[in-house]
Amino acid sequence: MTESKTELSNFTISKQKFRITQLNKLLIYYKEITETIREPFLILDEKLIVVSANPAFYKKFKVRKSDTKGKLIYHLGDKQWDIPGLRTLLDHILPEHRVMYNYKVTHDFPDLGTKTMLLNARQIDSKQLILLAIEDVTTQLRDKNEVKEATVTLLKQRDRLQELSDSKHDFISLASHQLRTPATAVKQYIGMLNEGYAGEMTIEQKRMLTIAYQSNQRQLEIIEDLLKIAKVDDGKVYLEKASCDVVQKVEAAISHQVGAYQSREQSIIFEKPTREMMVHIDGKLMMMVIENLLDNAGKYSMPGKTVYVNIDEDEECTAINIKDNGIGIRLKDRKKLFKKFSRIDSPLSVPAGGTGLGLYWVKKIIDLHGGSLEVISKIHKGSTFTVKIPSQTDLNHDLPK
Ligand code: ADP
Repeated sequence: MTESKTELSNFTISKQKFRITQLNKLLIYYKEITETIREPFLILDEKLIVVSANPAFYKKFKVRKSDTKGKLIYHLGDKQWDIPGLRTLLDHILPEHRVMYNYKVTHDFPDLGTKTMLLNARQIDSKQLILLAIEDVTTQLRDKNEVKEATVTLLKQRDRLQELSDSKHDFISLASHQLRTPATAVKQYIGMLNEGYAGEMTIEQKRMLTIAYQSNQRQLEIIEDLLKIAKVDDGKVYLEKASCDVVQKVEAAISHQVGAYQSREQSIIFEKPTREMMVHIDGKLMMMVIENLLDNAGKYSMPGKTVYVNIDEDEECTAINIKDNGIGIRLKDRKKLFKKFSRIDSPLSVPAGGTGLGLYWVKKIIDLHGGSLEVISKIHKGSTFTVKIPSQTDLNHDLPK
């Protein structure tokens, strides 16, 4: 061999060595990838004989290499892959370069139980090989079904609760309506007796009649409260909003409370603003809200105390503050305040009477106005209830042009 020929063959050998090293590296690289992939897969040749499987396949289906490699896919295990639909799909992959996506198979494995799997297959490069990946979706499907079942149960329970709540509303509303007529009749007859329609009464008879009148009055108040709550809960309160002077509304509410305050030797001091304060509200309902808060301020204060009322205004809202020097509310009782039928135990709760519905209704009406009700209170010192109504200019922004 000449010197140049030897040089050439040495060059070819080292080139081939280099290629072998590169191929070996590539092989290790692919081996590492296949061993790391947690989903089982098979590589099949054009006759659908298993060329190789990854460790995840052997582990998942509890089979040995010797029972898998070199075997026809349809003969594996207890012939679980011998499914007519799968046969058709696999037969078309190589000739037609097709891809198989998420072919669902459910099989009862003797050792593994029933499994639902998604099969994905495609041709590898230009080689006559098929990569068949198997994804076990049994747990996902079970979870999905469980969530579906739980959702159906919850929806049924919600409907049942709604039915119960509706029938409770209907009952309260019907019972209150039915009670109002006879209770009103009692009031009229007591009034007639008081006015002497049935002749003069003795002092004792008059005393008894006064008690009957007061009880009947209380009964009617409870009925009215229940009807008001049924209406607000049924979403049947429709605000008749108009631009009105909140100062006037507060004054009117105070004037309605004068009698009750005088009977307890209490007074209300209103720091009356010197100008109008226009707000966009349902004047009648907002006046009832203020009256309710004034009624509470007086009821939950000792005789002789004074309640202070003032109104603040800024760009965002108009705030009506009702400040009493009454019994106050403990922090732990604050969350009970706006709940239906909830009353807080205090030395004044029995003499004050009440249904525990007032603040619930008040809050609902303020919410309907897009406002808020805030409370600051200290036990034995007193409370300040603040009604905040969004300012008129603010509301005008939302009005259609
Ligand atoms: P009611 O007065 O009919 O009991 P409310 O819903 O108006 O019902 O009030 C709920 C409870 O909140 C009252 O029972 C009372 O204990 C407490 N409460 C309300 N306003 C005041 C106040 N200004 N000061 C102290 N406690 C109050």
